[in-house]
Amino acid sequence: MRYSLKPDYNTRRDMSMPTRRATKIVATLGPASSDPALLEAMIRAGVNVVRLNFSHGKAQDHIDRAMAVREASARAGREVAIMADLQGPKIRVGKFAEGKVMLEAGRPFVLDASRTEPGDLDGVGLDYKELPRDVKPGDVLLLNDGLIVLTVDAVRGEAVHTTVRIGGELSNNKGINKQGGGLTAPALTAKDMEDIRTAMRFQADYVAVSFPKNATDMEMARQLCNVAAADFRHKPALIAKIERAEAIPNLESILKASDGIMVARGDLAVEVGNAAVPALQKKMIRMARDLDKVVITATQMMESMISNPVPTRAEVSDVANAVLDGTDAVMLSAETAAGRYPLETVEEMAKICAAAEAAEDHQLDADFTGQTFRRIDQSIAMGALFTAHHLGAKAIVAMTDSGATALWMSRHRIHIPIYALTPKVATQRRMAMYRNVRPLLMDTSADRDTALEQAEGHLKTRNIVQSGDVYAITCGEPMGAPGGTNMLKICRAQ
Ligand code: PGA
Ligand code: MN
Repeated sequence: MRYSLKPDYNTRRDMSMPTRRATKIVATLGPASSDPALLEAMIRAGVNVVRLNFSHGKAQDHIDRAMAVREASARAGREVAIMADLQGPKIRVGKFAEGKVMLEAGRPFVLDASRTEPGDLDGVGLDYKELPRDVKPGDVLLLNDGLIVLTVDAVRGEAVHTTVRIGGELSNNKGINKQGGGLTAPALTAKDMEDIRTAMRFQADYVAVSFPKNATDMEMARQLCNVAAADFRHKPALIAKIERAEAIPNLESILKASDGIMVARGDLAVEVGNAAVPALQKKMIRMARDLDKVVITATQMMESMISNPVPTRAEVSDVANAVLDGTDAVMLSAETAAGRYPLETVEEMAKICAAAEAAEDHQLDADFTGQTFRRIDQSIAMGALFTAHHLGAKAIVAMTDSGATALWMSRHRIHIPIYALTPKVATQRRMAMYRNVRPLLMDTSADRDTALEQAEGHLKTRNIVQSGDVYAITCGEPMGAPGGTNMLKICRAQ
């Protein structure tokens, strides 16, 4: 049976392999995806990056999961990146005596920072003690991702008195957003700092920072990560989750202080309004690519597959449109963490991405018009794209230490796959996020001619090129020195 909870992963495996896909898939792990065989099947079906959500679970859970991911990817023969997603100052209500209440429109409800007893129909405590100082009468508060709407009537001491405008079920620890933004909580909490140390113990490849407002928040996160990672000689890449209204005008400086961004549509939509999000998504993706950064499109992409075996047409279009917008990766949250069909969701998403890419037109030359390149390595990367495109090459190959050459190449739309050969497993994993880049591990320390020969050997054993095929390859001389790409060779495979 196709959609069973315990499918025979082994027989499904090959049929589900997408033929070619450039867009990457980020899958959040959780109780629904903890089984090692399922995890392996998900990686084989197309997961490139796993997200560990530090809003849930204990440190040890994440360490165990990270180990399971490394093991599953070894079995699948494909390195995946691990992204540690910090909880950040998510502003939440406290707990209720009964676990939840049913709020009715028109009734008063008090959010009280000093309240210690569990909540009831009249009010609830807050884990964010600053809320009374961040709001004023007339403000609109959105709870549970905007499903419940309160307006502030008065602030008395530590208590925010509100009226319920749109009611609904409110349960323990649900999030609070203020319409239009303006909550002052710093982006990194004490828990986040502790979680960064945990994530560095398993050398998370990416760290996602929740609710940053500006570049300073990201610089602070960078410092904390580098300090925590120093013992492991590791430098994680940093993703800024764009989910606050205040972050939008600072987008460019946030991007420059980060390695990438996440279009975090869940919280963002609550702050700026649903209708503003699609245009913001396009703008963020464009800006990220222009600044040589990666971008993930996240939240509710395949939401209905949490409980259904097939996506809705609207979800299919949403994923396809994110691909056409140029995102590096599309993300799954509860679909894979807590849903009934984690494997099927990945398979469906992979198919949608591949189909959308096939329909995409590539206007490579337009990207280069009016551009000047000052760096030698960047010019080589662009030269490789241009030549490969016009020659109709089978593959573009980058021998890269840091992954920078592959990143530059992948910021442009081209239908030729980019194979990135690196001697560093950390670089290999990081590149798992880059659109259209297939990272491979190869010792590049040999002299140039030997390395070029070995590279061709890799391509041929993997059937990427066959005898007579043309490909473009870049490398640096002397070999193995980072940042030194200065050579482009157009080869015909022997
Ligand atoms: P979250 O972030 O899932 O951690 O809330 C993503 C979003 O807000 O869209
Ligand atoms: Mn969020």
